[in-house]
Amino acid sequence: MEDKIRKFMYGRYGPDELYKFEFILYIITLFIGIFFKSKVLSIVQLLLVISILYRPMSKKIYKRSNENQKFLKLKKAISRQFLNIKRNIQDKDHIYKKCHKCKTTLKLPLPSKKGIKHAKCPHCGNRVTFLTLKYQKIEIIKK
Ligand SMILES: [Zn+2]
Repeated sequence: MEDKIRKFMYGRYGPDELYKFEFILYIITLFIGIFFKSKVLSIVQLLLVISILYRPMSKKIYKRSNENQKFLKLKKAISRQFLNIKRNIQDKDHIYKKCHKCKTTLKLPLPSKKGIKHAKCPHCGNRVTFLTLKYQKIEIIKK
């Protein structure tokens, strides 16, 4: 039986990151479907099932690999948007803020009292608005 599966899968693309994502998304839509009945959701589920079944079986490996690369690129771009939020939750002593002019991520000292303060971006000189009172050196995290 295992041998038959191996022979069948030979030359086929197989599961990848996009496959895993689609699978998780499908499970989520199943749970949402318990509470909300919707035609749009049903169509999304159907499309997900088709993709989940078709993509790993596909023999067009190059095409499927390209789809996966596009997905990984998009995933990286989205997760980068939430990086400073994650840093702000994890680091209790600093505020991470992006300079809107040069897109540099700044590591700013945490305020000891509430109040709107301004800092000068060490990279481009742009004024960055943030909350702080303590004086600490502003560090550049990423240019
Ligand atoms: Zn700047």
